[in-house]
Amino acid sequence: MVKVIDIIRQITQIIMAVREIVRMGHPTLRKVAEPYPIQQIGSDSFLELVEDMRETLHCAGGIGLAAPQIDVPFQIAVVEITDPITRYGEIQTLPFEVYINPTITVENAASAGYWEGCLSVPGMMGFVERPQHIRVDYLDSSAEKKSMQLKGFLATVFQHEFDHLLGKLYVDRISDMSLFSFDLEYQLYHLNSASSQS
Ligand code: ZN
Repeated sequence: MVKVIDIIRQITQIIMAVREIVRMGHPTLRKVAEPYPIQQIGSDSFLELVEDMRETLHCAGGIGLAAPQIDVPFQIAVVEITDPITRYGEIQTLPFEVYINPTITVENAASAGYWEGCLSVPGMMGFVERPQHIRVDYLDSSAEKKSMQLKGFLATVFQHEFDHLLGKLYVDRISDMSLFSFDLEYQLYHLNSASSQS
């Protein structure tokens, strides 16, 4: 006889498909992702992938996730910032959105640095300088062409996520390795320092 608890567990597994996040060292994180086939947008497999990315992002407590991070080598990323209070300080919120085959255009090369973390590099933080005014062109989950301007920390978030689609990790962009730190040491020694504000 099947117990109710087993049925609930099975239903939960069907509804929630949290994928494993691969970590630095996994070869998929170092490959340039393939453009996602436009005719596949909206298909069952596409919708399942997006739902899995949403669940995985929520489960991990992140603000962004790229498909290569769940070992899917396509140019798809999701970003969602529901709570303005994050481990990166107080930031602008952004509703859940899917970014397919995105490109970045630097509108202004003036750079600023932020401490970045990554679900594929757990337990670490690093200080990275990036341009702070970019334009992002992408297809949304309805295959509509979209474009948006991003400034400040959000410009950093999107450059970090889309780097994953190019086989890059934020650790590649740390210019001062003394500013690559475990989470705890980041909180103890860097969180309120001048470098985290610039
Ligand atoms: Zn990342």
